[in-house]
Amino acid sequence: MTTTNTLTFDDFGLSERVLSAVKAKGFIAPSSIQALALPRLLADEGHLIAKARTGTGKTAAFGIPLVERLTTPSQKPKALILTPTRELALQVAQEIKSLAGGPFPRIAAVYGGASIGPQLRDLNHGVEIVVGTPGRVMDHLDRGSLDLSEVDWFILDEADEMLDMGFFEDVEAILSKTKSDRRVALFSATMPDAILALVKRHIGEFDIVEDKASLEEKPAVDQYYLLLRKEDRLEALRRIIDGADDFYGLVFCATKAETDELARRLVENGYGAEAIHGDLSQEGRERTLRRFRSRMTTILVATDVAARGIDVERLTHVINWDLPNDRETYVHRIGRTGRAGRRGIAISFVLPAARGRITQLSRSMEKVLGSPIQKMPIPSVP
Ligand code: ADP
Ligand code: MG
Repeated sequence: MTTTNTLTFDDFGLSERVLSAVKAKGFIAPSSIQALALPRLLADEGHLIAKARTGTGKTAAFGIPLVERLTTPSQKPKALILTPTRELALQVAQEIKSLAGGPFPRIAAVYGGASIGPQLRDLNHGVEIVVGTPGRVMDHLDRGSLDLSEVDWFILDEADEMLDMGFFEDVEAILSKTKSDRRVALFSATMPDAILALVKRHIGEFDIVEDKASLEEKPAVDQYYLLLRKEDRLEALRRIIDGADDFYGLVFCATKAETDELARRLVENGYGAEAIHGDLSQEGRERTLRRFRSRMTTILVATDVAARGIDVERLTHVINWDLPNDRETYVHRIGRTGRAGRRGIAISFVLPAARGRITQLSRSMEKVLGSPIQKMPIPSVP
């Protein structure tokens, strides 16, 4: 976490309640993006775009102003936060709850795959903050169980993804249900120009802040690729795991079926592995994540969607069982390791037909991250 040397949390005029919650979480100094975003969101107006790398505390950067300001009980939500995945919705809701330092604001997480009853109850009771995925938020809007007419804050977490093709229509429809004078804040690690232009067309002028240093910081990851045949991948993975000191890693597969299949084969071979993907029940996904966080399982086999935004620290390895489709996804995947001052290792499995792609990818990594993806010999059994 890059923090500012000069500022402390005491410099923002926060209430004692929030300050003690922040301290109880062990936050000592605000991260750079927090120092930039907090004063702007604590001020009375203005839209904001905030860019900083994964793991820089963007949740608290919008969470702290919300818990500071939304303490009057209200029947209809005052803030809506949209996230691309259910795990992230839950994680964001929990992080904000832990920053509130008291019973208010009340927060409801609404996401698909979980039974709707408790969510209806929460909404019915009245909450000040709703964190949700676009699909389930739309669902609640259709049922009439969610009324956004008093929303003052509209926040998109992982905003680049929220405004990408898959979600854009829903996000636009949801936004149109909020007041015209609500404030919009977008948080993301990347903000492609096309999306920025789109946002400006829809919302108007934004204040843009970024933690440049974090965006330019090279992840402390050694990147390798392994050229192999499809049928040799499992053996290669086993050797990597066996050869590592203390393997704790994510293995990315292209499809849900493949994650299940690979996790099953690993377990058959005596490894503590589990799969996580969108077809699991919400509870199942949460349980799997909890076991992984507490290191009861040390190998998580995942699809990109299931892994996005999940904050698990100190992974030793990221393995691309399948190559990602684009370079942003690659950077996101390998950014999961090499945090907290430790070097991580990213290894991509490359089938003969994908030689060209890894060369290309390596060239862009040299540009983006300053180091290429190096060829690795098949690891031998230690
Ligand atoms: P991002 O959304 O930028 O990827 P998160 O909001 O998920 O990052 O935060 C990553 C981790 O850092 C979380 O565990 C969070 O509690 C912690 N964190 C946030 N702000 C601070 C801070 N000022 N000091 C120490 N840890 C922090
Ligand atoms: Mg985040």
